[in-house]
Amino acid sequence: MSDHIITLNAGSSSIKFALFATDGGEWPRQIAIGQIEGIGVSPEFEAKVAAGGKTKRALTGAETPKSHDDALKIIIGWLSETFPDAKIAAIGHRVVHGGPIYSAPMLIDDASYKVLAGFSALAPLHQPHNLAGIAAAGRAFPGIPQVGCFDTAFHRTQPFVNDTYGLPPEHYEEGVRRYGFHGLSYEYITSRLQERDPAALRRLVVLHLGNGASMCAIKDAKGQASTMGFSPLDGLLMGTRCGQIDPGVLLYLMQQKAMSAAAISDLLNKKSGLKGMSGVSSDMRDLEASAAPSAKQALEYFVNRIRRELGSLMAVTGGADALVFTGGIGSNSTFVREHVLAGMEWAGIVFDSAANQARAEVISAPGSAVKVYVMQTDEEAMIARHTIRVAKLAEAPALATA
Ligand code: ADP
Repeated sequence: MSDHIITLNAGSSSIKFALFATDGGEWPRQIAIGQIEGIGVSPEFEAKVAAGGKTKRALTGAETPKSHDDALKIIIGWLSETFPDAKIAAIGHRVVHGGPIYSAPMLIDDASYKVLAGFSALAPLHQPHNLAGIAAAGRAFPGIPQVGCFDTAFHRTQPFVNDTYGLPPEHYEEGVRRYGFHGLSYEYITSRLQERDPAALRRLVVLHLGNGASMCAIKDAKGQASTMGFSPLDGLLMGTRCGQIDPGVLLYLMQQKAMSAAAISDLLNKKSGLKGMSGVSSDMRDLEASAAPSAKQALEYFVNRIRRELGSLMAVTGGADALVFTGGIGSNSTFVREHVLAGMEWAGIVFDSAANQARAEVISAPGSAVKVYVMQTDEEAMIARHTIRVAKLAEAPALATA
């Protein structure tokens, strides 16, 4: 029997989880993945066992989780019923914010937990929930190492010019910086390219296009600049977030429209983006299928922001050897990829439309100076891999497979 890792990604009303076996391979082997959504509202449990079936059911009655602790109990109950032999050796957590100081995954103890709690002001919509997940796991698995993996860590290598705003230095010192997010996804993609095409890591731009979306310029495998900044609001248009906006708009809303901070936060985070612009949906599939002119406009704006950021990030890397499309939209939408890459020959990108339609892994033409990949990201695998290393499981005695 091998040791096992649980990964947790706790959001405001959801916990995503995965179970991995540590067989000693380069990457841990995923055994199951799932989530509880709608904690405290109308909860649903969904789980998928690798090479097995899918479980999906609403949680009702006494089972209804009212807190992260309750939800975690349901997850643990299901895991121990389904995999009675699994021996949990460590738990890895996705933590949105490592602040200016944490640039690598780390063991979480009381002291570092307190430091992370101090970063809640930097990510009030995410950090408190991530910490609630860590606390709940600590109660459920006393004595088992817990490892925090930060979405900001990958970007800590970016130079000062891409890390700061044009404000007096005291703001930078107190933590008003361009942190960047989706770091676990960028790390996963970089690690996979390292195995497959290391030359691509010299000058690379990764497009993580999902419900949340960002892009990252990478040089010699290190993060140089991100479209996201102090918060995950900046940069690209997203499912419900506005992306880049002139701060003058916020001043106008406050001063002329008397909007409160809470109302502005709601507007920018939840009522904007693809959903707000189109009035149709935040889901790319719905917009692609919609005949509404507002849906078309939202798509055009979405694509236009990506193209502008691509030019900007390629200026950071001094041209590109490769691009990678990933995330739910990046790895699935032939439409978005086609519109982003059309007419980009000036940048050395020669798009292969037929390969794109065929959902090939490489969608640039053979002669293209820039190779364009489509890859699935796997943030859970990245967390599990970090967790093994940080919890020193890799040094455990040789283990037979589960
Ligand atoms: P999250 O940021 O929540 O992790 P995902 O990376 O799962 O988001 O991406 C969700 C997005 O991916 C949604 O907008 C969804 O419409 C889009 N998506 C998923 N499958 C497809 C598809 N086949 N074609 C176009 N868009 C898709």
